[in-house]
Order: sequence, then structure tokens, then C-alpha cells
Amino acid sequence: MNTMENDLVGQLKKFIPAEQITANPTVLEQHSKDESYHTPHLPDVVVFPKSAEEVSRIMKFANEKNIPVTPFGMGTSLEGHVIPYQGGISLDFQLMNEVLEVRPTDFLVRVQPGVTRSQLNKALKKHGLFFTVDPGADATLGGMAATNASGTTSVRYGIMRDQVRDLEVVLADGRIIHTGNMTAKSSSGYHISSLFVGSEGTLGVFTELTLRVYGLPEVITAARAVFSSVEDAVTTVVSTLSAGIPIARMELVDARSIKQVNAYNNTTYPEKPTLFIEFHGSEGGLSYDIEFTQNIALENGCQEFLFETDSKARSQLWDVRHSLAYAFVHKSPGKKMMVTDVCVPISELVGAIVDARNHIDGSELDAGIVGHVGDGNYHVILMIDLNDPEEVSKAKEFNAHLVEYALSRGGSCTGEHGVGVGKAHYQRREHGEALDIMMAIKDVLDPKGILNPGKIFMD
Ligand SMILES: Cc1cc2nc3c(=O)[nH]c(=O)nc-3n(C[C@H](O)[C@H](O)[C@H](O)COP(=O)(O)OP(=O)(O)OC[C@H]3O[C@@H](n4cnc5c(N)ncnc54)[C@H](O)[C@@H]3O)c2cc1C
Repeated sequence: MNTMENDLVGQLKKFIPAEQITANPTVLEQHSKDESYHTPHLPDVVVFPKSAEEVSRIMKFANEKNIPVTPFGMGTSLEGHVIPYQGGISLDFQLMNEVLEVRPTDFLVRVQPGVTRSQLNKALKKHGLFFTVDPGADATLGGMAATNASGTTSVRYGIMRDQVRDLEVVLADGRIIHTGNMTAKSSSGYHISSLFVGSEGTLGVFTELTLRVYGLPEVITAARAVFSSVEDAVTTVVSTLSAGIPIARMELVDARSIKQVNAYNNTTYPEKPTLFIEFHGSEGGLSYDIEFTQNIALENGCQEFLFETDSKARSQLWDVRHSLAYAFVHKSPGKKMMVTDVCVPISELVGAIVDARNHIDGSELDAGIVGHVGDGNYHVILMIDLNDPEEVSKAKEFNAHLVEYALSRGGSCTGEHGVGVGKAHYQRREHGEALDIMMAIKDVLDPKGILNPGKIFMD
């Protein structure tokens, strides 16, 4: 530890209990990276606050002294979001992990930011409720709100922004505000909850969230549909949505990705483009929806359509989708994961995925394509050797191509992973002059630029 770091720890100890502050090298290293290929950088200190008041004291201190503060949830983000490139304080919320209140009649829950998705669902189950957003990783609700996460169920229930009713936010100068209330609707004032959701720790620090929850569905059925081409699979998605079938999940896993999962899990799934589908509802309603979807799939060349209602069999089926990223990671020693995520209008989806596959096949890159295709959102998983400049540059060129393809068709450079540092240089291209408005808002809320500096906006 150098003298400056020592000094920072010493100053923080004046108003935060010593056991909640550390400059231990292992802990610093854990807070220097996310799950991606982005270059790590150490913070000077990690602080584990226990209350909004403590966060407020930390922010007042950091603002006065111009010290960068980077909020840290579970560190599962994929675009360098939590990497403290300018050092300073990494603010880890693992000690603020209580489900504060469940309000079954209002379909609401109040949580601290360090509560994880699976922890919340465990607490909600005894009330017959569940929280819908599922980003695959067991992320924190604070991190999920800050990245506007979404996932497999968003096609039915919406994204993180749709679930947030209120946020308690500590601003850069230490003020504590609430952005909303508990009502289902309000026309009162600007909708600043939406501004903070997706702000990636650059506008304020969340210390409490009020979130919308749903009743557990009476029946859940999962299905796996195998196709000979990605076009047939994606056309099935578009036709099913056009027919108004209330699909709860609709995920594409391409042939390359199924091959990877088979190798990792020792399974023998057909190595062909596959849709993983889930239906939520009542016995009567579901049988109609399933039959209709199956017919659409068969009309589009589906080669195998298989259902699972039993919960164990269903979770086995979803295991393929959920173990995918780790199947690539564990089978690629020495390489780092680059998962690029773009979103297009649903009418552009077939062309976008076919273009992505053709581009990969025409390069020497090895990559799988998966997607929350019901939302027009797809990811390409590349494992890259950071010591091979040619491979890195090819992967970056491919990423740029994918983003340009999406943007030129009315899409977005990221459907759910967020901007971090990885997508910062596409912000001007995507938002034009609206980016200046975002920068002006940042200036008002964080004039000294201490909150997660270098993220979203290029320096
Ligand atoms: C295998 C895998 C699969 C994934 N699949 C998906 C997916 O399907 N959908 C999806 O959306 N994402 C996905 N992700 C990305 C990641 O899980 C999400 O971005 C998640 O929302 C990050 O949550 P976290 O708790 O890990 O936050 P972190 O990574 O710790 O932080 C993310 C951002 O939130 C900020 N932040 C954290 N806590 C707070 C707080 N209390 N107040 C203010 N800002 C805060 C941080 O500063 C940072 O900018 C995946 C990641 C992995 C590794």
C-alpha cells in the first residue's frame, strides 16, 4: 500500500467503521475487473457501506476531495462498467443485502441494492410471487437497475426499467433523494427513475429499490424446437410474436453454441439452431398457445419440438441456455470472453442474425450466437486471446460491424449489457446531439465527474 492509499483509508476511518474499509491486495484485485476482456485497474480502497447515511458521508467526502467512486454490485457486467480506471473508492454493496418489505397486495417489494436476483426470488416464493428479470448471472438488484438489465423473460414481463417504481439515490454531493413512489401510475413531474435506471453508477448511487413483482404462474411449460437453419428459427419467433401468443421466454441458441454446451455438459442435443421457449399461464390457455406455436414452428421447418412441464426436466432444458457463457469460458483456457450485444427492430432480426453468422464464417473467428430473440436482442460470444493482436483486432472489427449493422437499421449498440467503456465510442453515432443532453445532465448531477468516471462518455 502506498502513502496516498494509506492516507485515504485513514481519512475514511474517521467516519466509517474500520472493518468496512480495506486496501487488502486480494480484495482490490477482485474489484479491479468484471467478467469481460476489458483491462483491469485497481481501486485504491474498497468500502462496504451498511446504510444510505454511510453512503451519503462517503459521497460528501469524495466530492469534496475529488475522489472517484465506482459502485460495485456483483461485478458480472460485461463492458468494463465496474473497473475503476481512475482508482479511488470501489463501493461494494454486499453488506446492504436485506429484503426490507414484501407487499403482496401491491405486488411490490422493497430491497437493499446488494440483494441478488435469486435471493429475492427465494424470499418471494413463500408469498406466491416472483421477480421476473433474469440476466442469467446471479447479479444484484442495484447492479441490474444501474445497467437496465433484462433477459430471458423480458419478452413477456419487460425490462428492469419497467419494474422500478422508486429508487433511493445518494447523489454525488451526498444528498439522498427518492425518484418515484409506490403507485402503478403517476403523471407528476419528470420521470427521473427512468433516468437513473441504466445510468451505470454515473449519476448517483442506489441505496434502496422498490420493485414490481408478479404472481407465480399456475402452470409453466418449456419447449425445445430444433431447426435446420437460423432463418427458420428466427422466422418462427417473428411469426409467433405476430400471432400475439404471450410467450414468456423465447431464446435462440445457434448450432455452434449447442456444440459447445454438449462438449461442456456431456450432453447430446442436436447441434442445430434451437429455440428454447417457455409458456406461463393456466392449464386451458396454455394448451392452445403451445399447439399454435408448435404449428407455426412446424410450418417453418421445425425438425423436433419437445415439451417439459416437470420442474426438474424444465430446469435441465434451460441449463443449456444458462450454462452457455461458462461452456465457452471453461473450454477456452487462456482466452477472455467478448460478448457483444446489439438490438434491432424485430422485422430486421432474421437479416441481422444471418449477417452476423456470415461475417463470423468469413473471418477466422470462432463464435456462438445466442439471443433473447423475442426482443430483437442477440449476443455473439467470442473467446479471444488478448496476447494475439490480430485476433483482438479482428474481434473488435467484427464488433464494430455488428453495431453499425444494428444502428443503420434503427437498432441500438446494446440491448441490455450497457455501455461501460466497451460501447462508449458508439454513443455519438447512436444518439447524435441527444448525447450532449445526457452530458449536460451528468454535469448537473455530478459536476466534478467523480461518479464512475470514464463510463458511458468518452473522456
Ligand atoms: C454469464 C453472464 C450472462 C449475462 N447475461 C445477461 C443478460 O442476459 N442480460 C443482462 O442484462 N445482462 C447480462 N449479463 C451482464 C450482467 O449480469 C448485468 O449487467 C448485471 O445487471 C450486472 O449486475 P451486477 O450486480 O453484477 O453489477 P456490477 O457488474 O457490479 O455493476 C454494474 C454497473 O452497475 C453499477 N452499480 C452497481 N451497484 C450499484 C448501485 N447500488 N448504485 C448505482 N450503481 C450501481 C456499477 O457501477 C456498474 O456500472 C450477463 C453476465 C454474465 C457474466
